[in-house]
Amino acid sequence: MTESPVEDSTTAAAPLVVLSKVNKHYGALHVLQDIDLRIAQGEVVVLIGPSGSGKSTLCRTINRLETIDSGTITIDGRPLPDEGKELARLRAEVGMVFQSFNLFAHKTVLENVVIGQVKVRKVPRPQAEKTARELLERVGVGAQADKFPAQLSGGQQQRVAIARALAMKPKVMLFDEPTSALDPEMVNEVLEVMRQLAADGMTMVVVTHEMGFARSAANRVLFMADGKIVEQNTPDAFFTAPRSDRAKDFLSKIL
Ligand code: ADP
Ligand code: MG
Repeated sequence: MTESPVEDSTTAAAPLVVLSKVNKHYGALHVLQDIDLRIAQGEVVVLIGPSGSGKSTLCRTINRLETIDSGTITIDGRPLPDEGKELARLRAEVGMVFQSFNLFAHKTVLENVVIGQVKVRKVPRPQAEKTARELLERVGVGAQADKFPAQLSGGQQQRVAIARALAMKPKVMLFDEPTSALDPEMVNEVLEVMRQLAADGMTMVVVTHEMGFARSAANRVLFMADGKIVEQNTPDAFFTAPRSDRAKDFLSKIL
């Protein structure tokens, strides 16, 4: 890992997200093993690897949905808080989009994007609604603002989920298989929103099986297996010349 040219270039600037020697167990399972990771402002990191390798757990530790057993995680120089107001602030700074869209079913699309701003960010409602409408426009679902989530397609719902996360003005966005639950014809409309977000300079960690997205949008690909970051490189280098047997084996199965 230390010989990776990508790693060298990202350590030069003060990184936005830093994980140092992070370890986590589920009982006897050592699910994250000495994870060291530095993510620069504006960097797009795609996380790939076999099922069960710890990708989701790694994402969830970054916004403290999961605790860690040892090591440190900092966002913008500040360690992750344990609880209370500081934790709510952190959750706002670290946006997360899941495979299942997790929208509030009984609230309108607009309200889904308004509510966090009002409750967590204490934004006055008129301003929160203005921001919500702008964000819904930006992800291409402005016309759906007054509908309920169930009236939208999966691709539209996932774009609302992205708008909802963006409304909190996050410093980093985590995406855990955001297109895995979608019908194939809706995958691209979500990836396109993510590509635009990346082009606009958002710092992103993306777990995905969409290798086309990884090739076109990632600055760096991390390959995880058995709780470790086994290999990392630029997408070009990784996909054309993976170094580890685990990565070669993985790519031979998916490409
Ligand atoms: P991935 O996202 O790469 O598929 P996960 O991070 O979801 O992997 O899971 C890594 C390992 O941890 C798997 O073996 C999984 O079964 C286990 N695991 C995940 N969440 C829990 C949990 N809450 N309790 C116990 N084991 C878990
Ligand atoms: Mg997962």
